[in-house]
Amino acid sequence: MKKASKKTSKATREQWKQSPCSNCRGMCCKYITVEINEPKDDEDLDNIRWYMIHDGVGILVEGDQWMVRMNARCRYLQKDYTCGIYDRRPEACRQYDTENCDYRSVSEGIPTGYREFEDYAKLRNYVKRQWRKA
Ligand code: SF4
Ligand code: SF4
Repeated sequence: MKKASKKTSKATREQWKQSPCSNCRGMCCKYITVEINEPKDDEDLDNIRWYMIHDGVGILVEGDQWMVRMNARCRYLQKDYTCGIYDRRPEACRQYDTENCDYRSVSEGIPTGYREFEDYAKLRNYVKRQWRKA
C-alpha cells in the first residue's frame, strides 16, 4: 500500500511513481483482513461457512495462519488511487510490501504465498483433506 496523495512531499511522490503502485488501482486498499483460528472441527468450519455466505467475504490461508478477507474500500483511497493520509497511514499499510503484493501477483504471476478461497465447498474440501493428513 505504498501510495502518496498530492499532499505528500515531492520526494515521496517521485518514489511512488517508480513503484508498481503507480500502475495499480489500489488493489490492497479495497479490503481488510482479520485473523481467525484455524478450524479444528465441524463447528469451526460451520462458522467459516457463515462468514463465506456473505458477499465479498473470502478466506486466506498461509500455513497455519488463517484470515477472513472482507471487501471494503478504504475511505482514504483517492480517485487517482493515491493514499489521502500517506504520512499518517496505519501500520498495517506501512507493513504491506510490494514484493509479492496483490497487483504483482496478478500482473507478474508472483505468488502471494497464501491460498484464497471464495467458494465454501472448495474450502471445506481443502480442510477435510488437511484433517485426513493430520
Ligand atoms: S496492491 Fe501492490 S501495487 Fe497495488 S497499491 Fe497495493 S502495494 Fe501497491
Ligand atoms: S490508509 Fe487507506 S488508502 Fe492509504 S495505504 Fe492504507 S488502505 Fe490504502
